Amino acid sequence: MIIVMKPEATEEEIAAVENKIREFGYEPHEIVGVECKVIGAVGDERGKERLHTLDSWPGVDETIAILKPYKLASREAKPHDTVIDVDGVPVGGELFTLIAGPCSVESIEQMCGTAEKVKKSGANMLRGGAYKPRTSPYSFQGMEEEGLKILAEAKKTSGLPIVTEVMAPNEIELVAKYADVLQVGARNVQNFSLLKEVGKMSKPVLLKRGLMTTIKEFLMSAEYILSEGNKNVILCERGIRTFETATRNTLDISCVPVLKKETHLPILIDPSHATGHWDMVASMARASVAAGADGLMIEVHPDPANAFSDGPQSLKPEKFAALTEELRPFLKLMKRTL
Ligand code: PEP
Ligand code: MN
Repeated sequence: MIIVMKPEATEEEIAAVENKIREFGYEPHEIVGVECKVIGAVGDERGKERLHTLDSWPGVDETIAILKPYKLASREAKPHDTVIDVDGVPVGGELFTLIAGPCSVESIEQMCGTAEKVKKSGANMLRGGAYKPRTSPYSFQGMEEEGLKILAEAKKTSGLPIVTEVMAPNEIELVAKYADVLQVGARNVQNFSLLKEVGKMSKPVLLKRGLMTTIKEFLMSAEYILSEGNKNVILCERGIRTFETATRNTLDISCVPVLKKETHLPILIDPSHATGHWDMVASMARASVAAGADGLMIEVHPDPANAFSDGPQSLKPEKFAALTEELRPFLKLMKRTL
């Protein structure tokens, strides 16, 4: 249920409505609209009709039942696009988000060198995994805190905000000390304990779609984070598993128009994990811009042949530079800046 306040509603009237929502056993979430304030009341769906009695309260314009199962994530609750501030970089607005960097943090030289190069090419955020979700327990698992420290150093030298994955609830505090964006990986998209815990943080969360996640399930996962109070959720499509084996995953490019219709949250595309092949990244990046995605996350490595993880899908910095130049006319056409 959302409670739409009148534009002239006073702070006292808003507080009274929020108290009543709590009294009914629901959690009020303020949704800042363009003209007026909207309060989302979320909680147990049973008995929510009681909230309609708020219709006649001072300062209340109307109460509207949100029909979608994802309440706070839905466009019904918030018609305008959400723009998320990542340490000064707005995500979801006119500026196109371009996150680049290696799959795994491997060394200070690798991270700082890559950061400098991708920044020169137009990237506005740096990625690198310090905790790696690997299919095999015998594969490289990441540098952990040492990797986080390297990321902090790369931020210092390049000025780029850091996006890095957090895999477990007990690692969140440590990762959040170094990261500007907490990445929840595809395999954890329905790890509800992790979602609830990152929801209690104020740092933006980059939520990747799972290999077998429907768009509805994806938005329900975003809802877990939002319902805990963290409004800064960035969605990322990274390919889903289909019968096709020519590519690592199948990029569901049509999720962009679906998500644009269903949610106000920004949506990025990761063409690296979606295709699994470096030579297919550029065409899917162009398609992502054309489809209306808010940004891209691309794996870039100075020496892909010797990368600790995901070398075959990683671009060399020169190729990344060429790609960003290639994207510029597409971005202009889509009224995006980089
Ligand atoms: C990654 O970004 O390096 C990663 C592991 O991605 P995903 O969770 O999408 O597989
Ligand atoms: Mn990777």
